[in-house]
Amino acid sequence: MPPLPDALLPLVPTGPAGSTDESSRGAHRRSPPARPSRHLADLDPAERRSAVVALGEPAYRADQLSRHYFARLCADPGQMSDIPAAGREALARHFLPTLLTVVREASCDDGATVKTLWRGAGGALVESVLMGYADRATACVSSQAGCGMGCPFCATGQGGLTRNLSAAEIVEQVVAAARVAAQGRLSGAPPRLSNIVFMGMGEPLANYRAVLSAIRTLTSPQPHGLGLAQRSLTLSTVGLVPAMRRLAGEGLSVTLAVSLHAPDDELRDTLVPVNRRWPVREVLAAAWRYAGVTGRRVSIEYALIRDVNDQPERASALGRLLRGRLAHVNLIPLNPTPGSVWTASRPGRQREFVARLRALGVPTTVRDTRGREIGGACGQLAGAELPGIGPATPRS
Ligand code: SAH
Ligand code: SF4
Repeated sequence: MPPLPDALLPLVPTGPAGSTDESSRGAHRRSPPARPSRHLADLDPAERRSAVVALGEPAYRADQLSRHYFARLCADPGQMSDIPAAGREALARHFLPTLLTVVREASCDDGATVKTLWRGAGGALVESVLMGYADRATACVSSQAGCGMGCPFCATGQGGLTRNLSAAEIVEQVVAAARVAAQGRLSGAPPRLSNIVFMGMGEPLANYRAVLSAIRTLTSPQPHGLGLAQRSLTLSTVGLVPAMRRLAGEGLSVTLAVSLHAPDDELRDTLVPVNRRWPVREVLAAAWRYAGVTGRRVSIEYALIRDVNDQPERASALGRLLRGRLAHVNLIPLNPTPGSVWTASRPGRQREFVARLRALGVPTTVRDTRGREIGGACGQLAGAELPGIGPATPRS
């Protein structure tokens, strides 16, 4: 069984762009553009070359810029000594604009978890979390600012969708995480970022083009991309069936995680509103198709909510749905969101749930609960609520 697609997700109820006092003031004062600027990481290698030529520079400058950004993790023209000084500033301005600025950064788990709250164009707030383990460093990234899917147990779902992120805004979260790891700032973890989970804010398949473009860039060999292994990327979806089918046809081998949370439509309709459009049967059919095409085991995500979806009968019903499939279950103890009456299952119930699934031969793991004390755990990354976090650490 593969290790857990590590953990958590940060979900920030930002509400409409700039819904916190701080960001709406900032948005008003500076009137930032509502759309992110174009960036090197929005373009494929051929587009980068033509864009560089259009600026009057030789095409190979595109590869030089890519090497600085993706291999050296550097966006500072002052450090690009292989590019003539006269052209550097203009190239950096056109291809490496600042997309996200740090609002706050927090760490916990003795420095093995680092969460960053970012502000993007239009004041949109997004979060990412970096988690260090003995054998790997994993970044949990956002694909949208907010989310329009409205799952009632999820903090992001409560705030609604602010906007889609651009491909480069997604990549930039990863590059920033790779820098933190490379600088040795992630305790006890290797200095090379190796795993990415699309489990932050947003529904990745609702921002399909940008997410696919980001995946291709993250997994392209250096210098054109970050050179991450496709298999070490996990895309988590609420179950947008047409997009899941499309993803199966992309020729990728990223890991798919499906947020099921209930084996029956009656309950899933209430926990995952989009289930009314694409019910359990269709979501699982799309998941098995993905598994069939890619040969990749699908991860079934199931947040255990006390007395809501944690009954032993539901464990058995889930096990019967998954038995014999290329799947494993990742149980997530519910991370209660502010104001919600729901909470995590009692330990005995959780044990029974695991036992029933395993008895049916379904590989089952319980996700760790990294980042809870800094609001960095599943469903709860409320930027405005970070307790006593100091000023952001400047980034290179
Ligand atoms: N939108 C995508 C990916 C982001 S959410 C999706 O829903 O799959 C990533 C995971 O965190 C999902 O499995 C989601 O259901 C889960 N999650 C959201 N809020 C949570 C909470 N409060 N406690 C535990 N898990 C939560
Ligand atoms: Fe969106 Fe996922 Fe949260 Fe549902 S659980 S509201 S799909 S981020």
